[in-house]
Amino acid sequence: MSGQQHHGIGMTSQRTRDRMLERLGEQGIRNMQVLMAMRQVPRHLFVAEALAHRAYEDTALPISAGQTISRPYIVARMTELIMERPVTKVLEVGTGSGYQAAVLAQLVPEVFTSERIHSLYLQTRRLLQQLGYGNIRCRYSDGELAWKREAPFDAIIVTAAPEVFPEALLQLVKLGGRIIVPVGGYRRTQQLVCVERTDEGYVRQEIEPVEFVPMLKGAI
Ligand code: SAH
Repeated sequence: MSGQQHHGIGMTSQRTRDRMLERLGEQGIRNMQVLMAMRQVPRHLFVAEALAHRAYEDTALPISAGQTISRPYIVARMTELIMERPVTKVLEVGTGSGYQAAVLAQLVPEVFTSERIHSLYLQTRRLLQQLGYGNIRCRYSDGELAWKREAPFDAIIVTAAPEVFPEALLQLVKLGGRIIVPVGGYRRTQQLVCVERTDEGYVRQEIEPVEFVPMLKGAI
């Protein structure tokens, strides 16, 4: 890919990416589809050039506007949680760098994502276009309901932490569908929660502690 030369990573990139996959396996990620998707996506193109050499470490990294790209393990874990069910249409809240959306786009025919910071929205939309992710639709909005008219979704991933579980999302998911949210807002550590819509109602499962930036109101 020409973009790899652009960030000067070239030949070593696939090797460091493979090392990331080995580590994800050691951390308990078992879904081969998810691992293959993460092998495909050039994570170093989703961070600033100065940080590209650290892109395949298992760490969150700063992106523009004071936001972060989530650590690979968490991207894998959230993706794995939704891929346990058939998914053809997925919603992500919090586009950020676009990396999670790109991983989803390898696996799911239609990806919808929203971002509240205009500069980040523009930058990421351009990057995703350049990389040829034609099945990701980006929208500039601060609401969980940014893509309400495109509902229902098979799955929803929220990648910024609200104070409490965003109940409004429940109406956007299909029967059998899952919503994954880091709940806990400004606390340093939040709880990753998976809510599944079943015949009998909503079933909530606590997954593990995570660290996300807070979910905020107001598009800026
Ligand atoms: N999924 C991203 C993670 C980025 S960090 C990635 O893979 O890089 C979370 C992002 O959520 C930030 O860009 C932040 O601006 C955005 N965000 C926070 N609150 C939001 C809201 N209410 N609506 C949409 N995006 C929001």
